[in-house]
Amino acid sequence: MIHVTLSELMVIYLLLLLGSVGTMWVVRKIGSVQSAWRLRKTWVICQACGNQYQDKTSAALPVCPICQRANERLPIREI
Ligand SMILES: [Zn+2]
Repeated sequence: MIHVTLSELMVIYLLLLLGSVGTMWVVRKIGSVQSAWRLRKTWVICQACGNQYQDKTSAALPVCPICQRANERLPIREI
């Protein structure tokens, strides 16, 4: 049998509580960063007219809906 005082039991409880809250925060943060990265990956900027459009297909060269020019998927930089 393990003997634990009430104060030690409270410290263990608080450490477990903080650990679970910290783990949930990290998991949610990683999920939000991944979803933002996936969303940014679908946006394309036309190199001819500068139009920004969303292309969810897996086409290598998505076509601009305004000027019909095929564009490469370049990474969009954050400001
Ligand atoms: Zn265009």
